[in-house]
Amino acid sequence: MSLRCLTMPYPLSATKLVTYRQCPQSYYFKYERGLKSPSAFGSAELGKVLHKTLADIYLNWSYQDPKPSWEWCYAFWTLNAKGLEESALLEGGKILYRYYDAFVRPHAVMKKPLGVEGKITAELQFDNIEFSLSGRYDRLDWLGDGLELIDYKTTKSETVPDSIDVQLGLYYLALERTYQRSLKRLTLLYLRSGKCVSFDVTQAQREDVRSLISDLATKLRADAEWKPNEGGHCDRCTYQKYCTAKTCEPEPLPEEARDLRQVQLTLEI
Ligand code: SF4
Repeated sequence: MSLRCLTMPYPLSATKLVTYRQCPQSYYFKYERGLKSPSAFGSAELGKVLHKTLADIYLNWSYQDPKPSWEWCYAFWTLNAKGLEESALLEGGKILYRYYDAFVRPHAVMKKPLGVEGKITAELQFDNIEFSLSGRYDRLDWLGDGLELIDYKTTKSETVPDSIDVQLGLYYLALERTYQRSLKRLTLLYLRSGKCVSFDVTQAQREDVRSLISDLATKLRADAEWKPNEGGHCDRCTYQKYCTAKTCEPEPLPEEARDLRQVQLTLEI
């Protein structure tokens, strides 16, 4: 067992914490040793253009008048969607119209969000290790008694991501630092159907995330064993040949595996 030195805060995101919860050993391969894990998904150009158009609408509206017209919103779509294929152009236009019809037209006023396409960043200490938390949101609204994060989804599937509990707990911690206000809920807004699914933040999620980070901090400090955790997720794991649970004679890590990163320890005075 070795003890690592310190240089800079350790970067942490919801995606990383979800991987750690699922299997510490695959976390180690991916984030500690930098081994690439090829993604199965291609680019989603239509999704990007829809995200950009919604951001433009909320960022450019003056908020001196009650709400924008459909034509005003659609102008951003035509501007951003240049270069999309004809079918995607039509599909995206319909999706945007559905959004306007459900979330802008029925309301007397379009409320100004607290943030649009923003980053969530905060620095936190756990067990003497300095972590830098980061995440992204599509929209951040003020509810009057707390914050609501809005995440636009452009996928056809409406399954709730596994990461939702970790996202809620982690963003709660980060936003509390940044805004000194509490995250109340996270809403997934499925743009293709107009369906909204909201999740309120619970005490259990906050504690779960604290305990996950604390556990990770212990491993980072002492470079303890990153144990494999087998499950259905192993079928999609690209590190099986290195995994001590999957093979009796794991292959050595390739040469491009990076050296262990140093972490920043804080001193309690
Ligand atoms: S094969 Fe399974 S247990 Fe092994 S590293 Fe991958 S996810 Fe973890």
